[in-house]
Amino acid sequence: MNEIRDAILAGQFDAVGGLAVPESYRAVLVRKDEQDMFEGMPTKEKDPRKSLHVEEVPTPELGPGEAIVAVMASSVNYNTVWTSIFEPVSTFGFLERYGKLSELTKRHDLPYHVVGSDLAGVVLRVGPGVNKWKPGDEVVAHCLSVELEDPAGHDDTMMDPQQRIWGFETNFGGLADLALVKSNQLMPKPAHLSWEEAAAPGLVNSTAYRQLVSHNGANMKQGDVVLIWGASGGLGSYATQMALNGGAIPVCVVSSPEKAGIVRSLGAELIIDRSEEGYQFWKDENNQDPKEWQRLGKKIRELTGGDDVDIVFEHPGRDTFGASVYVAKKGGTIVTCASTTGYMHQFDNRYLWMNLKRIIGSHFANYKEAWEANRLIDRGLIHPTLSKVYSMEDVGQAAYDVHRNLHQGKVGVLTLAPEEGLGVRDQEKREKHLTAINRFRGV
Ligand code: NAP
Repeated sequence: MNEIRDAILAGQFDAVGGLAVPESYRAVLVRKDEQDMFEGMPTKEKDPRKSLHVEEVPTPELGPGEAIVAVMASSVNYNTVWTSIFEPVSTFGFLERYGKLSELTKRHDLPYHVVGSDLAGVVLRVGPGVNKWKPGDEVVAHCLSVELEDPAGHDDTMMDPQQRIWGFETNFGGLADLALVKSNQLMPKPAHLSWEEAAAPGLVNSTAYRQLVSHNGANMKQGDVVLIWGASGGLGSYATQMALNGGAIPVCVVSSPEKAGIVRSLGAELIIDRSEEGYQFWKDENNQDPKEWQRLGKKIRELTGGDDVDIVFEHPGRDTFGASVYVAKKGGTIVTCASTTGYMHQFDNRYLWMNLKRIIGSHFANYKEAWEANRLIDRGLIHPTLSKVYSMEDVGQAAYDVHRNLHQGKVGVLTLAPEEGLGVRDQEKREKHLTAINRFRGV
Protein backbone atom coordinates (compact mmCIF):
# COMPACT_ATOMS: atom_id res chain seq x y z
CA MET A 1 0.00 0.00 0.00
CA ASN A 2 2.89 2.35 0.74
CA GLU A 3 4.14 2.06 -2.83
CA ILE A 4 0.73 3.06 -4.16
CA ARG A 5 0.46 5.99 -1.80
CA ASP A 6 4.00 7.16 -2.59
CA ALA A 7 3.38 7.02 -6.35
CA ILE A 8 0.21 9.09 -5.92
CA LEU A 9 1.89 11.58 -3.62
CA ALA A 10 4.73 11.96 -6.14
CA GLY A 11 2.15 12.61 -8.88
CA GLN A 12 3.26 9.49 -10.78
CA PHE A 13 -0.30 8.55 -11.73
CA ASP A 14 0.72 6.59 -14.82
CA ALA A 15 2.79 4.28 -12.63
CA VAL A 16 -0.17 3.35 -10.41
CA GLY A 17 -1.59 0.79 -12.84
CA GLY A 18 1.69 -1.12 -12.83
CA LEU A 19 1.68 -1.62 -9.06
CA ALA A 20 0.31 -4.76 -7.47
CA VAL A 21 -3.10 -4.56 -5.81
CA PRO A 22 -2.49 -5.35 -2.12
CA GLU A 23 -4.09 -8.53 -0.81
CA SER A 24 -5.55 -6.70 2.17
CA TYR A 25 -6.24 -3.13 3.24
CA ARG A 26 -7.24 -0.96 6.24
CA ALA A 27 -10.94 -0.29 6.52
CA VAL A 28 -13.53 1.22 8.85
CA LEU A 29 -16.15 -1.41 9.60
CA VAL A 30 -18.91 -2.63 11.86
CA ARG A 31 -19.05 -6.30 12.90
CA LYS A 32 -22.03 -8.56 12.48
CA ASP A 33 -21.45 -10.19 15.87
CA GLU A 34 -21.91 -6.75 17.46
CA GLN A 35 -25.14 -5.77 15.69
CA ASP A 36 -27.17 -6.17 18.90
CA MET A 37 -24.70 -4.31 21.11
CA PHE A 38 -26.92 -1.24 21.63
CA GLU A 39 -30.22 -3.08 22.00
CA GLY A 40 -32.60 -1.36 24.41
CA MET A 41 -30.60 1.88 24.54
CA PRO A 42 -32.06 5.26 23.56
CA THR A 43 -30.82 6.40 20.11
CA LYS A 44 -28.79 9.30 21.44
CA GLU A 45 -26.81 7.04 23.79
CA LYS A 46 -25.70 4.66 21.06
CA ASP A 47 -22.05 5.52 20.55
CA PRO A 48 -20.39 5.07 17.13
CA ARG A 49 -16.98 5.13 18.86
CA LYS A 50 -17.83 1.70 20.28
CA SER A 51 -19.08 0.07 17.08
CA LEU A 52 -16.78 1.46 14.36
CA HIS A 53 -13.45 -0.37 14.11
CA VAL A 54 -10.38 0.04 11.92
CA GLU A 55 -9.25 -3.39 10.73
CA GLU A 56 -7.25 -5.06 7.98
CA VAL A 57 -9.59 -6.88 5.55
CA PRO A 58 -9.00 -8.96 2.39
CA THR A 59 -9.23 -7.07 -0.91
CA PRO A 60 -12.38 -8.17 -2.78
CA GLU A 61 -12.19 -9.75 -6.21
CA LEU A 62 -12.66 -7.21 -9.02
CA GLY A 63 -15.68 -7.93 -11.22
CA PRO A 64 -16.83 -6.78 -14.66
CA GLY A 65 -17.77 -3.10 -14.84
CA GLU A 66 -16.04 -2.38 -11.55
CA ALA A 67 -12.99 -0.47 -10.37
CA ILE A 68 -10.71 -0.63 -7.35
CA VAL A 69 -9.79 2.84 -6.16
CA ALA A 70 -6.90 3.85 -3.92
CA VAL A 71 -8.75 6.12 -1.51
CA MET A 72 -6.88 9.25 -0.41
CA ALA A 73 -9.74 10.74 1.61
CA SER A 74 -13.36 10.11 2.47
CA SER A 75 -16.04 11.77 4.58
CA VAL A 76 -18.63 10.91 7.20
CA ASN A 77 -22.25 10.95 6.13
CA TYR A 78 -25.27 10.43 8.33
CA ASN A 79 -25.67 6.96 6.79
CA THR A 80 -22.45 5.92 8.55
CA VAL A 81 -24.08 7.06 11.78
CA TRP A 82 -27.12 4.91 10.99
CA THR A 83 -24.91 1.88 10.23
CA SER A 84 -22.85 2.39 13.38
CA ILE A 85 -25.88 2.54 15.69
CA PHE A 86 -27.65 -0.27 13.78
CA GLU A 87 -30.72 1.94 13.21
CA PRO A 88 -33.38 1.89 11.91
CA VAL A 89 -32.16 -1.60 10.98
CA SER A 90 -28.80 -3.36 10.93
CA THR A 91 -27.18 -2.92 7.51
CA PHE A 92 -26.16 -6.60 7.52
CA GLY A 93 -29.69 -7.37 6.27
CA PHE A 94 -28.91 -5.28 3.14
CA LEU A 95 -25.67 -7.19 2.58
CA GLU A 96 -27.40 -10.56 2.99
CA ARG A 97 -30.07 -9.61 0.43
CA TYR A 98 -27.51 -8.23 -2.02
CA GLY A 99 -25.45 -11.39 -1.59
CA LYS A 100 -28.36 -13.47 -2.85
CA LEU A 101 -28.59 -11.62 -6.17
CA SER A 102 -25.73 -13.30 -8.07
CA GLU A 103 -22.49 -15.25 -7.81
CA LEU A 104 -20.59 -11.98 -7.91
CA THR A 105 -22.63 -10.10 -5.33
CA LYS A 106 -22.08 -12.93 -2.82
CA ARG A 107 -18.79 -11.12 -2.06
CA HIS A 108 -20.74 -8.43 -0.21
CA ASP A 109 -22.32 -10.74 2.36
CA LEU A 110 -19.59 -10.85 5.01
CA PRO A 111 -19.46 -10.83 8.82
CA TYR A 112 -18.17 -7.24 8.58
CA HIS A 113 -19.41 -4.18 6.72
CA VAL A 114 -16.87 -1.68 5.32
CA VAL A 115 -18.75 1.61 5.42
CA GLY A 116 -18.48 5.00 3.74
CA SER A 117 -20.27 6.55 0.75
CA ASP A 118 -17.77 9.16 -0.44
CA LEU A 119 -14.21 9.03 -1.72
CA ALA A 120 -11.55 10.96 -3.56
CA GLY A 121 -8.66 8.93 -4.90
CA VAL A 122 -6.96 7.30 -7.84
CA VAL A 123 -8.17 4.37 -9.95
CA LEU A 124 -5.92 1.39 -9.33
CA ARG A 125 -7.53 -1.29 -11.50
CA VAL A 126 -10.57 -1.58 -13.73
CA GLY A 127 -12.51 -4.76 -14.46
CA PRO A 128 -13.52 -6.18 -17.86
CA GLY A 129 -15.82 -3.94 -19.86
CA VAL A 130 -14.62 -0.66 -18.36
CA ASN A 131 -13.49 1.71 -21.12
CA LYS A 132 -14.13 5.21 -19.82
CA TRP A 133 -11.76 5.01 -16.86
CA LYS A 134 -8.22 3.73 -16.46
CA PRO A 135 -5.65 3.22 -13.72
CA GLY A 136 -4.15 6.56 -12.69
CA ASP A 137 -7.35 8.60 -13.15
CA GLU A 138 -8.00 11.01 -10.29
CA VAL A 139 -11.61 10.55 -9.30
CA VAL A 140 -14.41 11.05 -6.87
CA ALA A 141 -17.22 8.50 -6.59
CA HIS A 142 -20.93 9.02 -6.15
CA CYS A 143 -22.75 6.39 -4.14
CA LEU A 144 -25.43 5.05 -6.49
CA SER A 145 -25.00 1.35 -7.16
CA VAL A 146 -27.33 -0.10 -9.80
CA GLU A 147 -27.54 -3.34 -11.76
CA LEU A 148 -29.73 -1.98 -14.63
CA GLU A 149 -30.94 -5.40 -15.75
CA ASP A 150 -34.54 -4.28 -15.41
CA PRO A 151 -36.29 -1.82 -17.78
CA ALA A 152 -37.61 0.13 -14.80
CA GLY A 153 -34.18 1.67 -14.22
CA HIS A 154 -33.51 2.89 -17.72
CA ASP A 155 -35.36 6.20 -17.57
CA ASP A 156 -34.13 7.36 -14.17
CA THR A 157 -31.51 5.02 -12.72
CA MET A 158 -32.75 5.73 -9.18
CA MET A 159 -35.79 3.67 -10.23
CA ASP A 160 -33.73 0.52 -10.77
CA PRO A 161 -35.27 -2.21 -8.55
CA GLN A 162 -31.68 -3.13 -7.62
CA GLN A 163 -30.75 0.42 -6.62
CA ARG A 164 -28.46 0.56 -3.59
CA ILE A 165 -26.38 3.11 -1.73
CA TRP A 166 -22.74 2.06 -1.99
CA GLY A 167 -21.03 1.74 1.39
CA PHE A 168 -24.41 1.57 3.15
CA GLU A 169 -26.39 -1.11 1.34
CA THR A 170 -23.26 -2.62 -0.22
CA ASN A 171 -19.90 -3.58 1.22
CA PHE A 172 -16.40 -2.22 0.41
CA GLY A 173 -17.23 1.46 1.01
CA GLY A 174 -15.05 4.55 0.93
CA LEU A 175 -13.86 4.83 4.54
CA ALA A 176 -10.86 2.65 3.74
CA ASP A 177 -7.52 2.65 1.92
CA LEU A 178 -9.11 0.80 -1.02
CA ALA A 179 -12.69 0.77 -2.27
CA LEU A 180 -14.65 -1.29 -4.76
CA VAL A 181 -17.04 0.72 -6.94
CA LYS A 182 -18.94 0.27 -10.17
CA SER A 183 -17.24 2.26 -12.90
CA ASN A 184 -20.47 4.22 -13.45
CA GLN A 185 -19.98 5.71 -9.98
CA LEU A 186 -16.79 7.49 -11.05
CA MET A 187 -16.51 11.20 -11.78
CA PRO A 188 -13.49 13.47 -12.31
CA LYS A 189 -11.92 14.92 -9.18
CA PRO A 190 -12.10 18.75 -9.21
CA ALA A 191 -8.48 19.80 -9.74
CA HIS A 192 -8.56 22.85 -7.46
CA LEU A 193 -9.46 20.84 -4.37
CA SER A 194 -7.38 18.78 -1.96
CA TRP A 195 -8.25 15.11 -1.52
CA GLU A 196 -10.32 15.72 1.61
CA GLU A 197 -12.13 18.73 0.12
CA ALA A 198 -12.97 16.75 -3.01
CA ALA A 199 -14.29 13.83 -0.92
CA ALA A 200 -16.64 15.99 1.15
CA PRO A 201 -19.52 17.07 -1.11
CA GLY A 202 -20.38 13.84 -3.05
CA LEU A 203 -23.36 12.25 -1.30
CA VAL A 204 -24.98 15.36 0.17
CA ASN A 205 -24.31 17.62 -2.81
CA SER A 206 -25.84 15.13 -5.25
CA THR A 207 -28.80 14.50 -2.95
CA ALA A 208 -29.47 18.22 -2.52
CA TYR A 209 -29.20 18.68 -6.31
CA ARG A 210 -31.90 16.09 -7.08
CA GLN A 211 -34.07 17.14 -4.15
CA LEU A 212 -34.05 20.86 -4.89
CA VAL A 213 -32.93 21.52 -8.46
CA SER A 214 -33.71 18.49 -10.61
CA HIS A 215 -37.05 17.99 -12.37
CA ASN A 216 -37.17 14.74 -10.38
CA GLY A 217 -37.26 16.84 -7.21
CA ALA A 218 -38.65 20.30 -6.50
CA ASN A 219 -37.47 21.83 -9.82
CA MET A 220 -36.55 25.10 -8.08
CA LYS A 221 -36.72 28.28 -10.15
CA GLN A 222 -35.53 31.85 -9.75
CA GLY A 223 -37.39 33.76 -7.07
CA ASP A 224 -38.67 30.68 -5.24
CA VAL A 225 -38.72 31.03 -1.46
CA VAL A 226 -37.03 27.90 -0.11
CA LEU A 227 -37.23 26.95 3.55
CA ILE A 228 -34.09 24.95 4.35
CA TRP A 229 -34.00 22.99 7.59
CA GLY A 230 -30.51 22.33 8.99
CA ALA A 231 -29.07 24.93 6.63
CA SER A 232 -25.52 24.66 7.99
CA GLY A 233 -25.53 20.85 8.06
CA GLY A 234 -24.49 18.29 5.45
CA LEU A 235 -27.44 18.55 3.07
CA GLY A 236 -28.48 22.06 4.05
CA SER A 237 -25.11 23.70 3.38
CA TYR A 238 -25.31 22.58 -0.27
CA ALA A 239 -29.03 23.33 -0.62
CA THR A 240 -28.36 26.86 0.64
CA GLN A 241 -25.63 27.39 -1.96
CA MET A 242 -27.85 25.98 -4.73
CA ALA A 243 -30.75 28.23 -3.74
CA LEU A 244 -28.47 31.28 -3.70
CA ASN A 245 -26.74 30.71 -7.02
CA GLY A 246 -30.00 29.54 -8.64
CA GLY A 247 -31.62 32.89 -7.90
CA ALA A 248 -33.96 31.58 -5.23
CA ILE A 249 -34.53 33.08 -1.79
CA PRO A 250 -33.41 30.68 0.96
CA VAL A 251 -34.87 30.97 4.44
CA CYS A 252 -32.28 29.12 6.47
CA VAL A 253 -33.16 27.38 9.73
CA VAL A 254 -30.28 26.74 12.16
CA SER A 255 -29.97 26.18 15.91
CA SER A 256 -27.27 28.58 17.15
CA PRO A 257 -25.76 32.02 16.48
CA GLU A 258 -22.58 30.29 15.24
CA LYS A 259 -24.52 28.32 12.65
CA ALA A 260 -26.39 31.49 11.68
CA GLY A 261 -23.00 33.12 11.09
CA ILE A 262 -21.95 30.27 8.83
CA VAL A 263 -24.98 30.45 6.56
CA ARG A 264 -24.67 34.24 6.52
CA SER A 265 -21.12 33.83 5.26
CA LEU A 266 -22.54 31.76 2.38
CA GLY A 267 -24.63 34.78 1.41
CA ALA A 268 -27.95 33.88 3.07
CA GLU A 269 -29.80 36.85 4.55
CA LEU A 270 -33.01 35.31 5.88
CA ILE A 271 -32.13 33.16 8.86
CA ILE A 272 -34.18 31.62 11.67
CA ASP A 273 -32.48 30.37 14.83
CA ARG A 274 -34.91 27.62 15.90
CA SER A 275 -33.36 27.46 19.40
CA GLU A 276 -33.74 31.18 19.97
CA GLU A 277 -37.33 31.05 18.71
CA GLY A 278 -37.98 28.04 20.94
CA TYR A 279 -40.48 26.33 18.63
CA GLN A 280 -42.42 23.52 20.32
CA PHE A 281 -44.21 21.90 17.40
CA TRP A 282 -45.12 18.90 19.58
CA LYS A 283 -47.18 19.43 22.75
CA ASP A 284 -46.60 15.83 23.76
CA GLU A 285 -45.68 12.56 22.07
CA ASN A 286 -48.91 12.37 20.08
CA ASN A 287 -50.13 15.92 19.62
CA GLN A 288 -48.79 18.88 17.74
CA ASP A 289 -49.46 22.55 18.32
CA PRO A 290 -50.72 24.32 15.17
CA LYS A 291 -50.16 27.66 16.92
CA GLU A 292 -46.44 26.93 16.77
CA TRP A 293 -46.69 26.17 13.04
CA GLN A 294 -48.41 29.53 12.65
CA ARG A 295 -45.65 31.24 14.65
CA LEU A 296 -43.07 29.79 12.23
CA GLY A 297 -45.17 30.89 9.24
CA LYS A 298 -45.44 34.41 10.67
CA LYS A 299 -41.67 34.56 11.17
CA ILE A 300 -41.09 33.49 7.56
CA ARG A 301 -43.46 36.20 6.30
CA GLU A 302 -41.68 38.78 8.45
CA LEU A 303 -38.36 37.81 6.87
CA THR A 304 -39.59 37.57 3.27
CA GLY A 305 -41.74 40.69 3.34
CA GLY A 306 -44.97 38.71 3.24
CA ASP A 307 -44.13 35.81 0.95
CA ASP A 308 -44.86 32.20 1.86
CA VAL A 309 -42.67 29.23 1.06
CA ASP A 310 -42.60 27.74 -2.45
CA ILE A 311 -40.39 24.79 -1.47
CA VAL A 312 -39.64 23.20 1.90
CA PHE A 313 -36.35 21.29 1.91
CA GLU A 314 -37.27 18.58 4.45
CA HIS A 315 -35.15 15.97 6.21
CA PRO A 316 -35.55 16.28 10.03
CA GLY A 317 -38.85 14.40 9.62
CA ARG A 318 -41.18 13.81 12.55
CA ASP A 319 -40.18 16.89 14.57
CA THR A 320 -40.73 19.36 11.74
CA PHE A 321 -42.93 17.75 9.08
CA GLY A 322 -46.28 19.07 10.36
CA ALA A 323 -44.86 22.59 10.37
CA SER A 324 -43.32 22.09 6.92
CA VAL A 325 -46.66 21.08 5.39
CA TYR A 326 -48.34 24.06 7.07
CA VAL A 327 -45.87 26.76 5.98
CA ALA A 328 -45.67 25.71 2.31
CA LYS A 329 -47.74 28.13 0.25
CA LYS A 330 -50.80 27.22 -1.78
CA GLY A 331 -49.51 24.98 -4.58
CA GLY A 332 -46.15 24.71 -2.82
CA THR A 333 -43.89 21.68 -2.53
CA ILE A 334 -42.51 19.80 0.44
CA VAL A 335 -39.60 17.70 -0.78
CA THR A 336 -38.24 15.14 1.67
CA CYS A 337 -35.29 12.76 1.65
CA ALA A 338 -35.06 11.69 5.29
CA SER A 339 -36.56 11.44 8.75
CA THR A 340 -33.68 11.99 11.16
CA THR A 341 -35.99 12.58 14.15
CA GLY A 342 -38.48 9.82 13.33
CA TYR A 343 -40.16 8.47 10.23
CA MET A 344 -43.75 8.22 11.44
CA HIS A 345 -44.79 11.71 10.38
CA GLN A 346 -47.96 13.49 11.37
CA PHE A 347 -49.46 16.45 9.53
CA ASP A 348 -52.86 18.05 9.08
CA ASN A 349 -53.95 16.86 5.64
CA ARG A 350 -56.49 19.65 5.29
CA TYR A 351 -53.66 22.10 4.72
CA LEU A 352 -52.27 19.83 2.02
CA TRP A 353 -55.28 19.00 -0.09
CA MET A 354 -57.26 22.23 0.29
CA ASN A 355 -54.17 24.21 -0.71
CA LEU A 356 -53.07 21.86 -3.48
CA LYS A 357 -49.64 21.31 -1.98
CA ARG A 358 -47.43 18.41 -3.02
CA ILE A 359 -45.14 16.14 -1.04
CA ILE A 360 -42.29 14.72 -3.10
CA GLY A 361 -40.07 11.86 -1.93
CA SER A 362 -36.47 12.17 -3.06
CA HIS A 363 -33.53 9.86 -2.59
CA PHE A 364 -29.88 10.33 -3.55
CA ALA A 365 -29.45 11.06 -7.30
CA ASN A 366 -28.95 9.34 -10.63
CA TYR A 367 -25.55 9.40 -12.35
CA LYS A 368 -26.51 12.41 -14.48
CA GLU A 369 -27.67 14.39 -11.46
CA ALA A 370 -24.56 13.42 -9.47
CA TRP A 371 -22.40 14.41 -12.45
CA GLU A 372 -24.14 17.81 -12.73
CA ALA A 373 -23.70 18.37 -9.00
CA ASN A 374 -20.00 17.48 -9.24
CA ARG A 375 -19.68 19.81 -12.25
CA LEU A 376 -20.94 22.69 -10.11
CA ILE A 377 -18.14 21.93 -7.63
CA ASP A 378 -15.60 21.63 -10.45
CA ARG A 379 -16.61 24.99 -11.90
CA GLY A 380 -16.42 26.70 -8.52
CA LEU A 381 -20.15 27.45 -8.45
CA ILE A 382 -20.69 25.34 -5.33
CA HIS A 383 -17.97 24.82 -2.73
CA PRO A 384 -17.19 22.04 -0.26
CA THR A 385 -18.39 22.77 3.25
CA LEU A 386 -15.65 20.84 5.04
CA SER A 387 -15.29 21.98 8.65
CA LYS A 388 -13.02 19.40 10.27
CA VAL A 389 -10.81 16.52 9.18
CA TYR A 390 -10.13 13.34 11.17
CA SER A 391 -7.65 10.50 10.83
CA MET A 392 -9.07 7.06 10.05
CA GLU A 393 -8.39 5.98 13.64
CA ASP A 394 -10.65 8.79 14.89
CA VAL A 395 -13.55 8.02 12.57
CA GLY A 396 -15.66 6.86 15.55
CA GLN A 397 -15.31 10.35 17.05
CA ALA A 398 -16.19 11.92 13.69
CA ALA A 399 -19.39 9.85 13.47
CA TYR A 400 -20.15 10.61 17.13
CA ASP A 401 -19.93 14.36 16.40
CA VAL A 402 -22.34 14.03 13.47
CA HIS A 403 -24.70 11.88 15.57
CA ARG A 404 -24.71 14.49 18.33
CA ASN A 405 -25.10 17.41 15.90
CA LEU A 406 -21.79 18.88 17.14
CA HIS A 407 -20.42 19.41 13.64
CA GLN A 408 -20.91 21.97 10.86
CA GLY A 409 -21.23 21.20 7.16
CA LYS A 410 -19.22 18.06 6.43
CA VAL A 411 -16.48 16.26 8.33
CA GLY A 412 -13.67 14.66 6.35
CA VAL A 413 -11.49 11.62 6.99
CA LEU A 414 -7.94 11.11 5.72
CA THR A 415 -7.35 7.58 4.47
CA LEU A 416 -4.16 7.13 2.38
CA ALA A 417 -3.41 10.86 2.38
CA PRO A 418 -0.88 11.43 5.20
CA GLU A 419 -1.91 15.04 5.78
CA GLU A 420 -4.43 17.67 4.72
CA GLY A 421 -3.98 19.94 1.73
CA LEU A 422 -2.54 17.45 -0.76
CA GLY A 423 -3.80 16.59 -4.23
CA VAL A 424 -4.39 20.13 -5.56
CA ARG A 425 -3.57 20.25 -9.30
CA ASP A 426 -4.88 23.67 -10.29
CA GLN A 427 -3.50 26.32 -7.94
CA GLU A 428 -4.75 29.24 -10.01
CA LYS A 429 -8.35 28.09 -9.84
CA ARG A 430 -7.91 27.35 -6.14
CA GLU A 431 -6.66 30.88 -5.42
CA LYS A 432 -9.76 32.25 -7.09
CA HIS A 433 -12.08 30.30 -4.80
CA LEU A 434 -9.94 30.02 -1.66
CA THR A 435 -12.13 32.13 0.64
CA ALA A 436 -15.23 30.16 -0.31
CA ILE A 437 -13.46 26.79 0.02
CA ASN A 438 -12.29 27.68 3.53
CA ARG A 439 -15.58 29.13 4.74
CA PHE A 440 -16.49 26.20 7.01
CA ARG A 441 -12.94 25.34 8.12
CA GLY A 442 -12.35 25.44 11.85
CA VAL A 443 -15.84 26.58 12.77
P1 NAP B 1 -26.47 16.70 9.33
O1 NAP B 1 -25.16 17.18 8.78
O2 NAP B 1 -26.50 16.14 10.69
O3 NAP B 1 -27.47 17.92 9.22
C1 NAP B 1 -28.81 17.81 9.65
C2 NAP B 1 -29.27 19.12 10.27
O4 NAP B 1 -30.61 18.96 10.65
C3 NAP B 1 -28.51 19.48 11.52
O5 NAP B 1 -27.39 20.28 11.20
C4 NAP B 1 -29.55 20.25 12.33
O6 NAP B 1 -29.34 21.63 12.13
C5 NAP B 1 -30.88 19.87 11.70
N1 NAP B 1 -31.73 19.22 12.70
C6 NAP B 1 -31.41 18.19 13.51
N2 NAP B 1 -32.44 17.90 14.33
C7 NAP B 1 -33.42 18.78 14.02
C8 NAP B 1 -34.73 19.02 14.53
N3 NAP B 1 -35.24 18.27 15.53
N4 NAP B 1 -35.45 20.02 13.99
C9 NAP B 1 -34.95 20.79 12.99
N5 NAP B 1 -33.72 20.61 12.48
C10 NAP B 1 -32.97 19.62 12.99
O7 NAP B 1 -27.08 15.58 8.40
P2 NAP B 1 -27.25 15.56 6.82
O8 NAP B 1 -26.05 15.00 6.19
O9 NAP B 1 -27.74 16.88 6.36
O10 NAP B 1 -28.41 14.47 6.72
C11 NAP B 1 -29.69 14.76 7.27
C12 NAP B 1 -30.59 13.54 7.11
O11 NAP B 1 -30.75 13.25 5.74
C13 NAP B 1 -30.04 12.25 7.73
O12 NAP B 1 -31.10 11.53 8.30
C14 NAP B 1 -29.45 11.50 6.55
O13 NAP B 1 -29.41 10.10 6.74
C15 NAP B 1 -30.43 11.90 5.46
N6 NAP B 1 -29.91 11.83 4.11
C16 NAP B 1 -30.65 11.18 3.16
C17 NAP B 1 -30.19 11.11 1.88
C18 NAP B 1 -30.95 10.38 0.83
O14 NAP B 1 -30.45 10.18 -0.26
N7 NAP B 1 -32.17 9.97 1.06
C19 NAP B 1 -28.96 11.69 1.54
C20 NAP B 1 -28.26 12.41 2.52
C21 NAP B 1 -28.75 12.46 3.81
P3 NAP B 1 -29.64 22.71 13.28
O15 NAP B 1 -29.39 22.05 14.60
O16 NAP B 1 -28.69 23.83 12.99
O17 NAP B 1 -31.06 23.15 13.09
